[in-house]
Formats: sequence, C-alpha cells, structure tokens
Amino acid sequence: MDKLYVNFMPQYADAPVSLWLLRKHVGEAAKAAVEAVAAGTQLRLLLPAGASETAAELTAAIAAAGVGTRVVRGSDPDDEAEAKPADVIVTLNRADFGFVYTNDRAAAQVFSGNKPVPAHHNGEVTYDGKMAPKLVSGEAWLRGAGVLAGEGTYVSIVSPDGAYAEPVELAAGATGADVVAASGVDAAEVKALYLGFPTSVFVPAAKLGEPLDLSAGCDAIRVYTTKNCMAAAMDRIAKGWRKESCGHCVFGHEGSWQIATIFGDIVSKRGQANDLDTLGNLCPVMAKNTICDVDATLARTTQQAIELFGDEIRAHYTGAKTCPSGECAAYKTYHILVSKCVGCGECLKACDDGAILGKADFVHVINQAKCTQCGQCREACKYGAVVRAGAKKPKTPPRPIPCRVHA
Ligand code: SF4
Ligand code: SF4
Repeated sequence: MDKLYVNFMPQYADAPVSLWLLRKHVGEAAKAAVEAVAAGTQLRLLLPAGASETAAELTAAIAAAGVGTRVVRGSDPDDEAEAKPADVIVTLNRADFGFVYTNDRAAAQVFSGNKPVPAHHNGEVTYDGKMAPKLVSGEAWLRGAGVLAGEGTYVSIVSPDGAYAEPVELAAGATGADVVAASGVDAAEVKALYLGFPTSVFVPAAKLGEPLDLSAGCDAIRVYTTKNCMAAAMDRIAKGWRKESCGHCVFGHEGSWQIATIFGDIVSKRGQANDLDTLGNLCPVMAKNTICDVDATLARTTQQAIELFGDEIRAHYTGAKTCPSGECAAYKTYHILVSKCVGCGECLKACDDGAILGKADFVHVINQAKCTQCGQCREACKYGAVVRAGAKKPKTPPRPIPCRVHA
C-alpha cells in the first residue's frame, strides 16, 4: 500500500491555516481519506497537539465508513505504529506549531516518534537509512482531494498593529494590491507587505501591483504602513525566529541570536555605527552554512530588509538618531507645550531624574539629556501640557519662559 504523508502543522500559532481548513471541512476530509484508502493509499496525517478534538472527529467519521484508523501521540515509538497498522493514522505532535515542521525530514521524524530534527534539503536526505518521505501540506492535500473548490491560496492577513484575521483565499495570480484591499488598509499608507515564513520576503509598496509568489508556502501576510518602523518589524521578526531556531547548527542558532540582538539594540537606542555592516557580512555566510532552511531564510530576509529599508534603519543610530516612523518607544520624547503650561510645578516635583527646569508661573522645560522617558510628568500634569512625541517634535523653548496661559 502506498503511503501519503500530510502535514497540518502550523508555522505560526496565530495562523494555523491548514488546520483551520481541516476543522471547517472535517466531514469532507474524512470522505476524501476514505476514498484515498479505497484507491490503495495509507494516509498519515500530522496534526498539532492541541488538535485532539479535530483528530477524534476526523477518525470517528473515517471509522464510521468502515476504514481502519487511529490516533497516535508523536512520542509513540515507531514499532508501535507498525504493530497496529491502520489505513489512516493521525499523529498528534507534541508541539502546536513551529517553523521546523516545514522541513520534510523534521516532520517525518515525528511520525517515527522522534524529535523533529531538520536536514538541509527537503526530500533529498535519508534518515534511518531511508529516504525522507515527501510531505504535502494539509491545504494542498485538501485541494487535491477536491475538498477545497478554489485554486487560490489561503492566508491570514495581519493588520499593521499585528492582529491576525481569519484566513481568506487569494486567487491564483493575486497581487500585493489584492492583499491590501482585503486588509481594509488605505493603499496610500502602505509601506510594504511581509510574506511570512517559509517565503519570508518583503514586498515594497512600489511592487504591490505585481503577482505574489506564494509557491514556497505562506500562511500569514503582514501589512506595514508608514506608521510602522521597519527596524521594529525586523526586531519582532528576528525575536520570533529566535524561538524557532532549533539549535542544531551554530550558524543558524548563533546567527539568529546576532540578528535579534542587533535589531533589539537598534530599536532600543543602543545601535552602533557599523550594525548593518555587521549584518551585511554575517547574513550571506549564515545563509550558506545553516543545516536547514529555517535560519538561512532569516539571513536572506535580513539582507532584503537592509536593501529595502537600510536608510530608515540607519536613521536610528546615525545623524539625528530618530525613528522616522515614530513607532519605536525608545525614540519617543516628552515635551511641555508653551500653549498649555501654567507653571504650577507639579511635573517638576514628579520627576525623579531632575530633568525638568522651571519655577512658578514659568513654562517648564524638559532637559532631554537627563529625561529617562518614564512618563511621570505627563501623569502629574492636569493641564495636558506634557506630550509624548515620535518623529515630529513640538517646538519648545530651550529654557523656562514666562507663562502665556494661567491656571
Ligand atoms: S507642564 Fe503641567 S505640571 Fe508642569 S508646570 Fe506646566 S502645567 Fe504644571
Ligand atoms: S518623562 Fe520622567 S524623566 Fe522625563 S521629564 Fe518626565 S518625569 Fe522626568
């Protein structure tokens, strides 16, 4: 009997697209599984640990059609699976999501009760003396079996503030502009899209009219607007990646740590003059020397971010040292407005850092060199005279001046 391995493991916890489709079409999926068995195929489905109810529903429907089926835990040893053969075996993995499961060998290891240890090339390596089985994604299997009617690709669109939407189907040949339209974001505001792992590329605003290449797979697409900082975007991406790096290769593990650390420093106002040069040197070497595609992909994404958004990222640590989009909290500063300050002195009393200059009936002034951006002064001022500013700073006097308004 032929075996077909189907992978429903999500890459992103917030975008479990294949699993979402399976839950939506569980009855039709069971029917497709029964038909596959009738055609001489043993199905092995890989689902995340938290999908036990879906696994139970699916196997109950398959069993009701008279086909052998059972659910096994990802930690079950190989020989147990062999000892109790079934036509449809659903393996519940120990984890609920992870980039590593896009690597065929890593996912295949789970079927044997092993840890998901990746290998460099999907489908081109052996393990236990056997060729790693080629896995199909859950979405591809459902489509091939006729469960999904359309020919598009399902993705979860992520809003500029990071909220994941329910998956939508993008038609074949869909463009970045189609994603923006589906997101409801004003196209004039869009700075770029980020096609999530395993594609992991940015699509800049100038290329939104071009068809998206989603052939490598992509469950989540994030929309970035002019209010989003691309250094902060890379900081979030790299920090998320750090949790995905499995630690089996030095270049991947240490490289992803370096990338996350450098972007973390940049958005925290600790960037160094040669930060992007360091990343520019690191990434090509890292991309070549990782064991699997997970961290190699981060290296390529970082290189692309430097090419597209290098000026914006460098602005954080060169020249006036600012976050041009105004998103990074470390670059937000507090200021006292001449038009509102009544000179009551409450902010001065609240400031533990001695960063406020002023006296009664004088507009108070914040010494930016001493200010630690704690925000106490804003809380203390009942006149709304203390404001927090991003890229655009209000004009304030260099030293206290007599108040124009009075309490
Ligand atoms: S900023 Fe507010 S709290 Fe401080 S002196 Fe002016 S009015 Fe008073
Ligand atoms: S934000 Fe904090 S440190 Fe800065 S002036 Fe206000 S109270 Fe002082």
